[in-house]
Amino acid sequence: MSDHGPVADVNALRGSAADVDLVIVGAGFAGLYMLHRARGLGLTARVFEAGTDVGGTWYWNRYPGARCDTESVEYSYSFDHDLQQEWEWSERYATQPEILRYASHVADRFELRRDITFSTRVVSARFGEASTTWSITTDAGETVAARFVVLATGSLSSTNRPDIDGLDGYTGRVLHTGEWPHEPVSFTGERVAVIGTGSSGIQSIPLIAEQAERLTVFQRTPNYAIPAHNRPLDPDDVAAIKARYDEFRAANRRMTAAFGSRLPGNDVPTLAVDDEERRTMLDRRWEHGGLPFLGAFNDILLDPAANEVVAEYVRDRIRSIVDDPAVADALAPTNRIGCKRLCVDTDYYATFNRSNVELVDVNDEPIERFTTTGIVVGGVEREFDSVVLATGFDAMTGSVLKIDIRGRDGCELREVWAHGPRTYLGLQVPGFPNLFTVNGPGSPSVLTNMIVSIEHHVDWISDALAHLDRSGAGSIEATVEATDHWVSIVNAIADFTIFPSCNSWYLGANVPGKPRQFMPFLGFPAYTDQVADITADAYRGFEFHPVHPDTG
Ligand code: FAD
Ligand code: NAP
Repeated sequence: MSDHGPVADVNALRGSAADVDLVIVGAGFAGLYMLHRARGLGLTARVFEAGTDVGGTWYWNRYPGARCDTESVEYSYSFDHDLQQEWEWSERYATQPEILRYASHVADRFELRRDITFSTRVVSARFGEASTTWSITTDAGETVAARFVVLATGSLSSTNRPDIDGLDGYTGRVLHTGEWPHEPVSFTGERVAVIGTGSSGIQSIPLIAEQAERLTVFQRTPNYAIPAHNRPLDPDDVAAIKARYDEFRAANRRMTAAFGSRLPGNDVPTLAVDDEERRTMLDRRWEHGGLPFLGAFNDILLDPAANEVVAEYVRDRIRSIVDDPAVADALAPTNRIGCKRLCVDTDYYATFNRSNVELVDVNDEPIERFTTTGIVVGGVEREFDSVVLATGFDAMTGSVLKIDIRGRDGCELREVWAHGPRTYLGLQVPGFPNLFTVNGPGSPSVLTNMIVSIEHHVDWISDALAHLDRSGAGSIEATVEATDHWVSIVNAIADFTIFPSCNSWYLGANVPGKPRQFMPFLGFPAYTDQVADITADAYRGFEFHPVHPDTG
């Protein structure tokens, strides 16, 4: 359990040059909890948030159909007993507006907004060796000196806008799912294009199709989607979970992806059972719905042969839903299932049976260009009133690298990560003392229920800050050796899996020019066990430096 007790005001003792102890960048679930923990430690903190309010992902992604695909009783904070007992989720998978209300409720409940500066983007952070402080500059021209910086900037918060010829000259409405307007958007009577068939496209396409006069979906890579079977929550089920919430959370923390303890993975290889038994197991998971589908057998993400059998099961399902065999074939993915993030859908494939929906395959023949009124593929122009870019994110590193971060001796993070991100435990980068990432590359992050990972990282950072101040040290910094070793472990684990086999955003492959490197660490319990072991072993791989003589 974390130490929530206040630490001595070392700032005052040292006569530090810092304005605050901590600058936190971002007011999503990571930034909010970091602020709460910092206050509990008696540290002063300021949060800068580019948006006009809290919520992060759930503030920005307001597209039709946006909702969680981690079950709502699990996708929520566990740190406060009363909060988790009192908050009522309404559906198995919460909608974006409901999650945003939850984030806002948390901000109110813990009076967080008073330390958050909204509509303000952090543009640079520079480490001053002599003062052991970070100088953080915002786009409003403010500069703040802080002892510590926490980058709670989000893994999926930097939108990926495709570089397609003519896009800027297109005169219709252009919307990105990750920067959706706050006012209601109507597609009624419109000719609409959606580019992209990842989770955001798959969630929004059925609802846009219901409104639009005509919807054209431009698909580069088809994706696997498992039905959500969303439904209102049963009050008796919720009461049963709340009666043993801590136990439930603890069980989920021991799951590979930090969720789903009520339907654990089936610890049997796919090909160890006969066809009938395999079909029964896959049917059961399909009817259960959602991400636990990949837990039907224990080798789906490891053995290409096993993966293919399971992938073919989903392709069969697609063929049975979609009326036109040519459209069904085009929608059936050929890459390995799970290699790109599995999607969770409500009526996605069935939407292609509607007479007002057209699928355009842009894999072999990419989108040529935009005209002022439409999109050209294969020499054919289609005209649109609105274009929805469901084209995803510069994931995991995008928002961090948008900030000009310079550490010890002026070293630039953009240069240090030029060939791919390098972190120790996804928490720190050598050369950047007292700077932390939450859910950074090299940690389980996007392969987990991310609120669980956020709480783990924020608790670790808080404990490290308390430890640092109790020990009288001035800074904590990952070593180069520990980081090199950690990066090799992350890559070695990925190489045992099917993950490197497709062009996913996990590998940075969705952003032209981004170095190809598998970024997340696979396996939440293995990760947290290692972090616990390292911490107990006097923070092995981290160096604690004394307070600089000029400061102390
Ligand atoms: P974010 O919520 O991304 O917040 C980061 C904040 O930092 C943003 O508000 C951003 O504006 C701000 N910021 C970034 N850079 C700067 C800067 N330089 N200056 C100032 N502010 C800055 N995860 C799951 O576990 N389950 C799900 O079902 C799930 N569904 C998702 C659905 C969608 C549509 C998306 C996009 C992501 C989903 N995720 C899901 C992942 C989701 O991002 C995390 O669960 C979680 O919300 C991340 O919280 P965060 O605070 O780390 O980051
Ligand atoms: P994404 O998974 O990266 O999908 C982007 C889509 O746009 C892909 O189909 C991609 O094709 C396509 N695309 C990109 N550039 C293109 C171009 N120039 N021409 C044609 N197609 C192009 O992004 P996302 O759907 O926003 O999801 C990102 C992540 O956010 C998810 O994986 C998930 O982690 C999270 N998320 C979760 C939910 C949820 O259900 N809870 C919902 C939304 C998002 P290629 O595949 O060929 O690159």
